[in-house]
Amino acid sequence: MNSETLANSSRNLIPGGVNSPVRAFNAVGGQPMFFNKAVGPYIYNVEGEEILDFVLSWGPGVLGHAHERIVKAVQDEVAGGFCYGMASPLECELAQYVCDRVAGMEMVRFVSSGTEATMSAIRLARGFTGKSDFVKFEGCYHGHSDGLLVKAGSGVATFGEASSAGVPEGYTKHTISVPYNDLDATRQAFKNGNIAAVIIEPVSGNMGVVPVKEGFLQGLKDLCVEFGALLIFDEVMCGFRVSPTTAAAKYGVTPDLFCFGKVIGGGMPVGAFGGRKDVMEKLAPSGPVYQAGTLSGNPVAMRAGIETLKEYYESDCFGKMDSLGALLEDKVTKLIAGRDDLKFTRTGSMFTLFFNSEDKIENVEDVGKCDFDRFGRFFNYMLREKKILLPPSQYEANFLASVHTEGHINQYVEGLEAFLIQEN
Ligand SMILES: *Cc1c(COP(=O)(O)O)cnc(C)c1O
Repeated sequence: MNSETLANSSRNLIPGGVNSPVRAFNAVGGQPMFFNKAVGPYIYNVEGEEILDFVLSWGPGVLGHAHERIVKAVQDEVAGGFCYGMASPLECELAQYVCDRVAGMEMVRFVSSGTEATMSAIRLARGFTGKSDFVKFEGCYHGHSDGLLVKAGSGVATFGEASSAGVPEGYTKHTISVPYNDLDATRQAFKNGNIAAVIIEPVSGNMGVVPVKEGFLQGLKDLCVEFGALLIFDEVMCGFRVSPTTAAAKYGVTPDLFCFGKVIGGGMPVGAFGGRKDVMEKLAPSGPVYQAGTLSGNPVAMRAGIETLKEYYESDCFGKMDSLGALLEDKVTKLIAGRDDLKFTRTGSMFTLFFNSEDKIENVEDVGKCDFDRFGRFFNYMLREKKILLPPSQYEANFLASVHTEGHINQYVEGLEAFLIQEN
């Protein structure tokens, strides 16, 4: 079976042929590829081609795919059962491990996805503060729960509109969406609403990598303190990718609650939210805010998470990824020097090349001015000519792993250079 046959048959079975929309490659021509193996820095399509992977399952693969230590640990754990639906010591072990390393994480609850983590953190913040409204930033993605699928309303800092069909107004009327990096608009939002929480990707990856402006996170923290709201850092993507722990540690601003996902499950379905103990203790069964999950904290996922984080620290995974990122940044910056039609951004092991001639990229409006057709041509050139997989959308981050090498960085840069030459 090749990708084309699979795409045709899957479209009759699964909406759009995929179980998560971006996999359909709609933003880059709509011809999805099907894959059936991934090892180290490579992913293999059903045609048997070896493709250098800068998606890494959208971030979890800090150690690359199918790291031997994690594979062995998971195999070992699976033999003793997949899921008990009862408490297990591995949950305590991962909780302890995360709380020991993440400053500001006093208690944690494990869930099975980033969506669950953010949705539950918002509910908890509302339960704790007794307020209903919250602020999110345009272009940040916090999973697909109703109240979070919101784009900005007609004016800045007004209540948002749903960005999906099927979300009644009642679900979004408590969400105020404001431009990223805009502190004045955030202050206005606090004046317009009765704010329980501010949720933010402290390094944004879901509009491409848009770095946070100096002082912005501290400004949010100050507003939250002033108005009695909780600050939630959604580090589902940037956690363990922009510093050895969190963006909070990198920028020296500790939120009241964190959300994690992706890396902490090492590729298994794991999410987590946690932070201040007095807030977390409001969760059921110790408090009145309900939250639960049949598969939450299952031993296989916990074991994958524990081994991934242990290997991450023992092997200085972040240090390796960050050096590779710096090398890539240096080479790409040199290559595109003097051009005004490309912008490269990077924080730690996340990066984006924007096909954009704006002077600055600070928010999703700036990203919206990219040349998306040209990005699509670049994506397809890299995939089909150079066997390099990039995220199939301009609104996404690219990811590095510690198994990438200088050679792989050169492959990316040479691919980009060849693309720019053939354009002329
Ligand atoms: C991926 C992501 C989510 C959602 O996580 P899922 O596991 O896909 O539900 C939430 N927030 C951020 C910042 C993400 O990158």
